[in-house]
Amino acid sequence: MRYFDYIQPENIKQASESAGRDWRKALLYAGGTDLLGLIKNEVESPAALINLKAIPGLNGIEYSEREGLTIGALVKLSQLSAHEVVREKYSVLEQALKETASPQLRNMGTIGGNLCQRPRCWYFRGDFHCLRKGGDICYAVDGENKYHCVIGGGPCFIVHPSDPAVALLTLDAGVTIASAKGTKRVALKDFFVLPEDDIYRENILQPGEIVTHIHVPPVSEKTVSGYIKFRERGAWDFAVVSVAATLRINGDTIIDGKAAFGGVAPKPWQEEKINQKLKGLSVKPGNFESLSAEVLKEAEPLNQNAFKLPLVRNLLKRLLVQLTAS
Ligand SMILES: Cc1cc2nc3c(=O)[nH]c(=O)nc-3n(C[C@H](O)[C@H](O)[C@H](O)COP(=O)(O)OP(=O)(O)OC[C@H]3O[C@@H](n4cnc5c(N)ncnc54)[C@H](O)[C@@H]3O)c2cc1C
Ligand code: SF4
Repeated sequence: MRYFDYIQPENIKQASESAGRDWRKALLYAGGTDLLGLIKNEVESPAALINLKAIPGLNGIEYSEREGLTIGALVKLSQLSAHEVVREKYSVLEQALKETASPQLRNMGTIGGNLCQRPRCWYFRGDFHCLRKGGDICYAVDGENKYHCVIGGGPCFIVHPSDPAVALLTLDAGVTIASAKGTKRVALKDFFVLPEDDIYRENILQPGEIVTHIHVPPVSEKTVSGYIKFRERGAWDFAVVSVAATLRINGDTIIDGKAAFGGVAPKPWQEEKINQKLKGLSVKPGNFESLSAEVLKEAEPLNQNAFKLPLVRNLLKRLLVQLTAS
């Protein structure tokens, strides 16, 4: 382990100034479940860690009928999934959280850290100086790419590892980003970036910017939602693929709906045309079959991962049948 400084700021301004001064050499530290692994594997070699845990106001969960949920970035994954309102009104989020990592990791990992975690590509985590680490080759292209992306990739082919992010997309969530200069609110769908936009980062955060809160709008009583994650092992594992959906239903019609997909792209993935087609769709298995067949039409799988396409389409069909069954 290399030597690094430990900074414990008392507020966002101090944290932001410390982080902004030495971008990527001073790293934000929340639960540490991702960051410490990256440091041990020497993927990251920070000169300083900025511990966010002593900053007040980032630990709470608030709910109002008008604003919906406001979740502090330091809220633990287990704390969030156990919250009464999440369990009652936001099933998709509860299910995704419960499918995330292991109980121990959920007790340590925070929701802010989960959204900002780095990719799990085994070349990136291993001793390979690939494109994302400043090298000049993506080892996944001609290497072991079973778990890599099928859409949105190039020149790097990671998938985004977060389960909660996929659920939150279907809920139209947003994040507050703060820095010494002020705060701004951004839709979660605009938070993540593709490798073609920035190969060194997975989100829009600039030097000194910190996620402080996650916002989830209220849902109507006619809303149903759910999350299906396919993984290779029964115990904790990252998603091979996953599907989330949030639907507003009236009688036999989906009035409005959003679907999102994990394990397929460098960011949690949504397709506007699928969301448009969900609007006004009659609840019939045949309709779900033809809608699901439209998902990831522009995919360009690598040589080992075309299996993800039928998998993700079938999971969407299954989820829509489940959510509209009663
Ligand atoms: C074995 C294992 C299995 C896992 N399985 C899953 C899984 O199945 N599904 C899944 O979704 N996740 C999984 N994870 C990831 C896990 O959920 C994350 O490690 C955890 O949520 C990160 O939270 P943290 O608070 O520990 O973040 P940290 O490790 O402290 O930070 C992670 C990253 O986010 C940055 N960061 C942290 N907080 C902020 C903030 N507020 N603003 C800006 N940047 C910030 C840090 O600088 C760092 O780059 C797994 C992790 C492990 C180790
Ligand atoms: S997929 Fe991205 S992170 Fe993985 S080896 Fe290629 S460039 Fe590196």
